[in-house]
Amino acid sequence: MDRRSVLIARSPHIQNQKCIHTKNVFSLLDLPVLEESYKRIKKHVDGCKACETALRDFELKIVETKIHIPKPQIDTETKEMFEREVSDLFRVFDLNEKERLKKRIKNRIKTIDTMGVGFIKNLASKQMLTTYAFGAVLFVVLKQFFN
Ligand SMILES: [Zn+2]
Repeated sequence: MDRRSVLIARSPHIQNQKCIHTKNVFSLLDLPVLEESYKRIKKHVDGCKACETALRDFELKIVETKIHIPKPQIDTETKEMFEREVSDLFRVFDLNEKERLKKRIKNRIKTIDTMGVGFIKNLASKQMLTTYAFGAVLFVVLKQFFN
């Protein structure tokens, strides 16, 4: 992962963007000003609050990074720090994913519970078929979960 992707991933502001063009605005920093695509993107950014904010945040991050990094002798250390932070970031994503999964399973079990007697009476109902399907999925998920 290059430094730019790391910065994008680390900025909550950028992650929460609602505009589908936001991911393109960062190329403004690389494109020659006279390039047609530069003008097109710049025009959009000037009129789009989400993209404008994202770009400004990103530029600030770059400035911060330039202040904190450089000097060849600490480059290895900086590189290691980035790598560490990226792997931490992925661990957090992973945990969130598992948390969401657990919540979904809990809700599903609650649903089955509240169905009670009606649940038994409707063994062939659509809901029951869904539950069978869910059981199969749960089996696969749990198997993966406890491996
Ligand atoms: Zn936009």
